[in-house]
Amino acid sequence: MFDGALVNFILYEGVDYIDDSDLMQFEKGDEKTLLENHYIPGILNVYFAEYLTNSSKSSICGYSDNTDNRDIIVVKNSCSINDSTLAHEIGHILSLVHTHGVSNTQLTTELVDGSNCDTDGDGICDTPADPGLSSDNVDNFCNYTGSATDANGDTFNPDTSNMMSYSLKACRTYFSKEQIIRMYTYFTLEKNRFTQPGVVPEIVIEEEDYDKDSLTAVKLFPNPVQNGNIYLSSTKIETAINFKIVNLQGQALANGYVENNEINVNRLPAGSYILQLQNGNSTVIRRFVK
Ligand SMILES: [Zn+2]
Repeated sequence: MFDGALVNFILYEGVDYIDDSDLMQFEKGDEKTLLENHYIPGILNVYFAEYLTNSSKSSICGYSDNTDNRDIIVVKNSCSINDSTLAHEIGHILSLVHTHGVSNTQLTTELVDGSNCDTDGDGICDTPADPGLSSDNVDNFCNYTGSATDANGDTFNPDTSNMMSYSLKACRTYFSKEQIIRMYTYFTLEKNRFTQPGVVPEIVIEEEDYDKDSLTAVKLFPNPVQNGNIYLSSTKIETAINFKIVNLQGQALANGYVENNEINVNRLPAGSYILQLQNGNSTVIRRFVK
């Protein structure tokens, strides 16, 4: 499932059985004991607990936390064999947002016609706008049965098989191409401590062979940004280059066309960002700091 993102998983030193009945009934937010006694930095730590609840005591299948350089996933035992919870949580670890957007309670502002797909919902354009799926609006054959409409009055037509949706667990079977690209990018730029020491992964995603309009050689300067603009090293590229700026949580913050080899980033707060540049032939990913 993660093949396209060039990620594969290797079990680190076997499975560690944690003999601690206090941890059997685990509540999200109570990671202190886990982190102090059972956490190995530099790898993805996946914990299984017999019972798992969120902070409002509702039972949940799993959650992930990739903040503060920690990389943990906790999965309820009974959900570990449903074929999608663990993959969904790994999607989060690799920066993916739910297809219904960052809020689990408010209706997505992503429009059915795709016009704001870059910035709203999951910030990914090959996943259709998703009004929030559950067993209330997905039937046992994985058909969407809801009738919610967006701000334009268009009826949602969500993808019930997307791994990052809240569709029925058994319906979730795949990541979209752009989700795979985002995971690969994030993994390469932010999680490369997972790779073997000394191996620096190539950070270019080429869809076709090299040609004169390829963005492969483009570099950014100054980095960190100094005067509110980031510049592309001079290119002889004749095709239009469009850009997208994403924060490390995977949210798209800006997009448009590059003009005069510069991008104005004045309104972004200080922080680290991922810049995706794309023209007819190639997509490249660069990181910058403001
Ligand atoms: Zn989730």
